[in-house]
Amino acid sequence: MNDIRLYMFQSGSQCCKLHDIKMNQGDGADYTIPVPWFLLTHPKGHVVIDGGLAAEGLADPRAYWGDAVDAYRPIMSPEQGCVAQLASLGIAPEAVRFVVLSHLHSDHSGAIGRFPEATHVVQRREYEYAFAPDWFAAAAYVRKDFDRPGLRWHLLDGTGSDGHDLYGDGVLRMISTPGHTPGHQSFLVTLPRHGAFLLAADAVYTLDHWNERALPGFMASAVDAVRSVQALRALAERTNAQVVTGHDPDAWPAFRQAPAYYD
Ligand SMILES: [Zn+2]
Repeated sequence: MNDIRLYMFQSGSQCCKLHDIKMNQGDGADYTIPVPWFLLTHPKGHVVIDGGLAAEGLADPRAYWGDAVDAYRPIMSPEQGCVAQLASLGIAPEAVRFVVLSHLHSDHSGAIGRFPEATHVVQRREYEYAFAPDWFAAAAYVRKDFDRPGLRWHLLDGTGSDGHDLYGDGVLRMISTPGHTPGHQSFLVTLPRHGAFLLAADAVYTLDHWNERALPGFMASAVDAVRSVQALRALAERTNAQVVTGHDPDAWPAFRQAPAYYD
C-alpha cells in the first residue's frame, strides 16, 4: 500500500455530559462522543495520527484510566484498538513509521509504544506538560501510555506559520493549536484527489466550537482555544480544507469510515 490515502477510524465512544463538550449546556444531560483517529498511508512510511484509547485498558478500565472513567466512560471493544484495526487492513505494527500526536490525553495516546519502528512526534510543550499537569487536567493524562522505556520521540518546538511538514511534500503538516492543552497541535492532510482535510483534533471538539457558538467544557486556556480556532478557520479557507472535528457525534458520521478511505 504505497498510495497516499487517509483512513478515518474510531476507537469506540465515550459517555460523558454535554457540558463537558459544550460549556454550560445540557443541564447535566448525557452525551456520547466518538473517539476518532487516523491512518495516513504514504510511500515513505505509514503514519498513525493519534490512535484513540488504549485497548489494554478495557480489561479493567478503572485500574487503567483511574477515576477519569466516571466522567468519560469508554464504550469500546478490543477489536477497536488501533493495532487490531490496522491488522484488519493488513498493516503490521512494524510498517508504521510515525505516530503523530495532537496531544497526550488518554483518548489520543493509545497508539504510543505499540509500533516498534515508529518515531513519536508531539510538541515539546505538550510532552513536558503531560508529566506535570495542573490539578484540573491531571486525570486526562495516563502516564503509563507515554512514559515507556525505549520510545523514540521527536519533540517539536512550535510549528512555524506554515506548519511542520512531516515528509517535506506538503501531504501532512502539523499546526500548533494551543488552548485545549498547552501543547496541542492539529493536522492538515492534503491528498492527491480529495484535497485538504483539516484534522483539528481537540482544538475543535464540535462544529459549534468551529462556528464560535460554544466554548468547550474543558480547556487549558480559553483565549488560546478561541484564537487557535480562528487560525484554523483562516487556514481552512486558504486551503479549501474540510474540517474534521475532534469529538462531534453529529459531524463525524458524515466522513467515510475505514476500510473506506480518501485518496
Ligand atoms: Zn483532549
